[in-house]
Amino acid sequence: MTSEKLVCTSCKQDITNDNGRVIMPCPKCGEETIIRCSKCRKIAVKYKCDKCGFTGPN
Ligand SMILES: [Zn+2]
Ligand SMILES: [Zn+2]
Repeated sequence: MTSEKLVCTSCKQDITNDNGRVIMPCPKCGEETIIRCSKCRKIAVKYKCDKCGFTGPN
């Protein structure tokens, strides 16, 4: 286990304690981990993959 914090890809907030968060690999390249907080999911804030530049709420 690492002690790395979970930070939302979109809003950069620490969401270690956010039970509504979603953690998934980038749908395009699969190499970057996309982390979204419950708030950003709710209002469909866009995220961007740092590796391939993929953006989307999907
Ligand atoms: Zn967020
Ligand atoms: Zn990607």
